[in-house]
Amino acid sequence: MAAEKKRVGIMGGTFDPIHIGHLVIAEAAREQLALSEVIFIPAAQPPHKAGREVAPAGHRLHLVQLATESNPFFRVLDVEMKREGPSYSYDTLRALVETHGESTDFYFIVGGDEMNTILTWHRISELFALCRFAAARRQGVPLSLLEVRERLGEEVLARIHPVQAPELEISSTDIRRRLCEGRSIRYLVPEKVEAYICKEGLYQ
Ligand code: ATP
Ligand code: MG
Repeated sequence: MAAEKKRVGIMGGTFDPIHIGHLVIAEAAREQLALSEVIFIPAAQPPHKAGREVAPAGHRLHLVQLATESNPFFRVLDVEMKREGPSYSYDTLRALVETHGESTDFYFIVGGDEMNTILTWHRISELFALCRFAAARRQGVPLSLLEVRERLGEEVLARIHPVQAPELEISSTDIRRRLCEGRSIRYLVPEKVEAYICKEGLYQ
């Protein structure tokens, strides 16, 4: 009998900055899909965000570390920050699959808004062959998979796994705006994240 495969979650994002919404969907995916760990991978130069100024990689990485350190199932990997050029999830997954071999099933955790843009992702049909997707709804964004089915075929739908999580109306955009306006971000991000942002005067 084939041994049960290990299941690992991948939480990619710009995390500019990381907030409770990210942590809630990562934990829900871990629990519901019985993942042995969730690896947070901050993007260096997000392909979808070219043109907008993003906080320095080192600060974003440190914030992700602070936010995840109390969860023994969470881990942070800086592979995308070490690579030159835009951060493509395809390159990241290919490298992970190469090192972990066939013994691991990867679940890429995304919110509904990202799931809806999936057809624009670099080498998406090959990415579907490398990993499954764990999709959580995002407030106000209905999940639409019709086009995905049309373009990539019925089979890929079986590789998209719904995750139930509280739908929190929190975004990094809103947090940056609040900081810029001198408003509170308390309880929207972990305490240590808030303290570091204040100490470093980020997003002001
Ligand atoms: P920005 O407003 O700058 O786009 P963001 O809050 O969307 O930031 P990202 O780093 O872009 O954060 O998102 C990383 C991943 O987390 C994406 O898959 C996104 O859909 C998901 N995500 C972020 N916030 C939430 C949330 N509140 N609920 C569910 N998913 C979320
Ligand atoms: Mg986003």
